[in-house]
Amino acid sequence: MSTILVTGGFGYIGSHTCLELLKKGENLLIIDSLENSSINIKLKINNLLSKNNDNKNGKLVFRKGDIRNKIWLKNIFEEFKLLEIPIKTVFHFAGLKSVEESTKLPLKYWDVNVNGTINLLNIMSENDCFNIIFSSSAMIYKQNISKPFKENSELSPTNPYAFTKFTIENILQELYSSAPHKWRIANLRYFNPVGAHTSGQLGDNPTKRPANLFPAIINSLQNDNIELSIFGKDWPTNDGTCVRDFIHIMDLANAHIAANDLLISEDPQLLSLNIGTGFGTSVLEIIKTFEKVNNCSIKYKFDQRRAGDVPFIVADNSYAIKRLNWIPKKSLKDICRDTWNWAFKTEIKIN
Ligand code: NAD
Repeated sequence: MSTILVTGGFGYIGSHTCLELLKKGENLLIIDSLENSSINIKLKINNLLSKNNDNKNGKLVFRKGDIRNKIWLKNIFEEFKLLEIPIKTVFHFAGLKSVEESTKLPLKYWDVNVNGTINLLNIMSENDCFNIIFSSSAMIYKQNISKPFKENSELSPTNPYAFTKFTIENILQELYSSAPHKWRIANLRYFNPVGAHTSGQLGDNPTKRPANLFPAIINSLQNDNIELSIFGKDWPTNDGTCVRDFIHIMDLANAHIAANDLLISEDPQLLSLNIGTGFGTSVLEIIKTFEKVNNCSIKYKFDQRRAGDVPFIVADNSYAIKRLNWIPKKSLKDICRDTWNWAFKTEIKIN
């Protein structure tokens, strides 16, 4: 028996992916500093698991800590080896993700994202753990085109956050080249993950001021309809607002499961895959759809463009669909409905 280590597993993407892994019977060790999440996520995951009555749920162990803490991380790998449930796979979600914050605090981003990952990779390597699924980002592509990005499109990050993701991908490439017979690596380049678990129990629950569109919509609706800021109205898009490829969080979670299955079933390799829907939607279109699906009204205002922002980010997902035998199934309506249910129709939120 072995263990899957999930870094940042109580965060938005990690928590939804962990639930699916546990339902599949995988035993997980989640580590998280709780910098942008909460211990209550453990209760929510366990609660959802208890409703899954096919009895094959895996076990969830949680340890609070920081991936930059070498001794702590080493001890954890050691401990699980001694228990004869060694860590053999890592889903690496832990990191900081705000483009805007990264332009103000670049050193913090390099330290957590890059130094934290180097630390993790060193310890994985020392413990014969060579299987990693890394949370990369579409922000690493060169942002000068208005057509969907392919995996081989030019890479040229334009902000510190994107640079950290680009750098980690480079490190992983070099690591793979140093021992191609050992490493199984999947860089999943996420486009815009949104929505929530259909139960309304899990969703995007940042402890920091929301920087992403859907948490910002909810924040506005929950606070007497304070005006939502739309950053820029003169981008070179149809309605002047940014266009993004919004993918439902459960489609994204399932892409992780499919990526792990693929890595395990084939020879060692390094893969980079676009995880998006292939469709672009503007910020204004999202607001209109959200209002229609949920019969509500969102007040908004136009603000200055944000530092580091770009107008058009849409995936060509054909390679991921082919390699992963996976396809995004959820619609924009599902995204808007599930986000609403998560925010307004569930039991009282714990945090
Ligand atoms: P999140 O902030 O919700 O989750 C990240 C988790 O990592 C949090 O629980 C946080 O507490 C934890 N964490 C942060 N620093 C840590 C550290 N030093 N040690 C241990 N834990 C730490 O973010 P998310 O939306 O779930 O994103 C997960 C990953 O996907 C991130 O690496 C992010 O950069 C990447 N990503 C996210 C998006 C997005 O739009 N959400 C898009 C592309 C890529």
